Amino acid sequence: MDDGTPAPLLEVRGLRKHFGGVKAVDGCDFEVGAGEMVGLIGPNGAGKSTVVELLSGLLKPDAGTVLFDGREIQGLPPHRIFASGLSRCFQLAKPWPRLSVLENLLIAIPPEGKDTIWRALLTPPSRVRAAERAARERALAVAEQYRLHPLRNDYAYTLSGGQRRLLEFARIALARPKLALLDEPMAGVNPVLQVEIERGIRNLVEDGTTVLLIEHNLGFVERICDRVIVMVEGRVAATGSLAELRDNPIVQDAYLGVVGAA
Ligand code: ADP
Ligand code: MG
Repeated sequence: MDDGTPAPLLEVRGLRKHFGGVKAVDGCDFEVGAGEMVGLIGPNGAGKSTVVELLSGLLKPDAGTVLFDGREIQGLPPHRIFASGLSRCFQLAKPWPRLSVLENLLIAIPPEGKDTIWRALLTPPSRVRAAERAARERALAVAEQYRLHPLRNDYAYTLSGGQRRLLEFARIALARPKLALLDEPMAGVNPVLQVEIERGIRNLVEDGTTVLLIEHNLGFVERICDRVIVMVEGRVAATGSLAELRDNPIVQDAYLGVVGAA
């Protein structure tokens, strides 16, 4: 029966990861719907980055299930999770330093189909060249969109932190994931490039990618997120719009730090 409610794109149930005695993620439950732009906020050490590591496969959970696009992905290796349509950006953006900006973009375009070696051998050279041309045109168009076009022939190691971040967004855009996990994309970025990054996140959402954004700057979160999930001590303490949550005592106590300020 279809009641008109779309199934969530991401469903996290009972997710747990302890490091020795540290209960980094301790029974975390939340959902993200397709097309949503959701903020994940909470104090330092709440477990937000660990959730991203668990979802993207860099860490294996101790317990819990992660349903992504209708399939369980918990414990799968990172490349399988990436191939299923889930991309993440790192707290520090790391492009291939000895490749040019354009080359970094070209290698972000996923091969079509899995049988790429056989396809490369069996496809007539003229068609391979046409595919290469199309990939190059797409990469250049995305470079333009993310204001990287003037830098396209520069080595990636010459880019500033903010430019690397833009390159990372452009790479995510080329991979066309269903879901992008962004862990503090504004960290260490100057105010001019912050504007570009905000535009980059909006571009991703407009292109159909669902976004889960970890960010400390609540003004920014309020501007671009439909909804926020508040994590405290490894669990979800509250969800809703930031406007609603400002009055929530759990959130005020744990995050906004206004309780006991006398
Ligand atoms: P957040 O991103 O919300 O600031 P983290 O997920 O980075 O929080 O960290 C949650 C807790 O887990 C912290 O107490 C942190 O010190 C601890 N932690 C994170 N990663 C590791 C690790 N690899 N080994 C040991 N402890 C870790
Ligand atoms: Mg973190």
